[in-house]
Amino acid sequence: MVDYIGVSDIQRLVQRLGAGAFMERLAGEIEADYRRWSEFEKSARLASHSKVGVIELMPTSDGRLYSFKYVNGHPKNTAAGLLTVTAFGVLADVDTGYPLLLSELTVTTALRTAAMSALAAKWLARRDSAVMALIGNGAQSEFQAIAFCRMLGIRALRLYDVDGAATAKLERNLRALPEFAAVTLVRCRSTAEACKGADIVTTVTADKKNAVIMTPPMVSAGMHINAVGGDCPGKTELHGDILRMPGARVIVEYEPQSRIEGEIQQLEPEFPVTEFAALLGGAATGRSSDADITIFDSVGFALQDYSALRFLHALLHEERGSHRKIDLVPQLEDPKDLYGGTIGSGKRARLRLTG
Ligand code: NAD
Repeated sequence: MVDYIGVSDIQRLVQRLGAGAFMERLAGEIEADYRRWSEFEKSARLASHSKVGVIELMPTSDGRLYSFKYVNGHPKNTAAGLLTVTAFGVLADVDTGYPLLLSELTVTTALRTAAMSALAAKWLARRDSAVMALIGNGAQSEFQAIAFCRMLGIRALRLYDVDGAATAKLERNLRALPEFAAVTLVRCRSTAEACKGADIVTTVTADKKNAVIMTPPMVSAGMHINAVGGDCPGKTELHGDILRMPGARVIVEYEPQSRIEGEIQQLEPEFPVTEFAALLGGAATGRSSDADITIFDSVGFALQDYSALRFLHALLHEERGSHRKIDLVPQLEDPKDLYGGTIGSGKRARLRLTG
């Protein structure tokens, strides 16, 4: 039987710790895995594009565990009452090839993306950062807000979305959290207004085009930009000149994938960027002065999903009592008798979830 984490399970697992603490712990797991970057098999994800969206497969392995994620990105979906991003994934044992865990990854993607964003900002943003602009107030936005307030000590959020209802939803959800009682939430009328006085700007918008959410006049000295929404070919958020600004440093997750999918797809292939793992290993520095502009050009990398699946699997096994399992793989008395042990047998297959 294969361990199973569905939406109700992720809800329970996260609520047990609290979303902020969960993401902080997950960020620690992601950092630990990035510190052994060379052990991982790495490849740009396999993307299947259509006119309206993308479906991607994201595999990786450290030689002991293997993971993959199925994820889509369809910005038009929300108009039809569907999520822009959904995902699920598998953690498997390399020795046997057997799957160990099948998990929902829609909520988990939002958690791991925010954990990664806040982790990168811890390495890149000015230490006195207190104000963050949050542009794009859809499904990912609460997760980003919670992670940055928890891990960076953000005390004021300046919110903007072209859809006022999305901002109202974000504000309502954050106001309900005790840890946001002392956090100032400011609704802004434009991205330019939201960026005024911000130490950090998170862009997490969805549009399948080369959008220009931020332009150079919105950038101030010392700012950290966490660019999350531009994550596939032909889908960007920053004006290319921001990446070229004097004192700007661009940090990516995995360079070969980011060259195709990130903000840097707009630039010449030799434009210098730094991989996040190089910061951790001390091979590169992110920010060298309070005046530098740092840009985390996030697209999402398979290692972060590996870390999330590994962390979730451990949390599941920490719980007392039984958790859900599914009969994804046949259990046979004779492994050579697949037919006799399954469809050739008189017994009915166990299709229901146990737990
Ligand atoms: P969503 O559709 O729920 O929310 C996106 C929001 O952006 C919407 O509220 C929309 O109104 C707003 N928006 C669109 N254009 C805008 C503009 N010009 N100015 C201001 N707001 C604008 O999507 P989501 O699930 O929150 O995902 C947001 C983006 O993040 C997507 O593009 C998704 O692909 C990306 N994403 C990236 C990662 C990563 O690891 N980098 C992970 C998950 C999602």
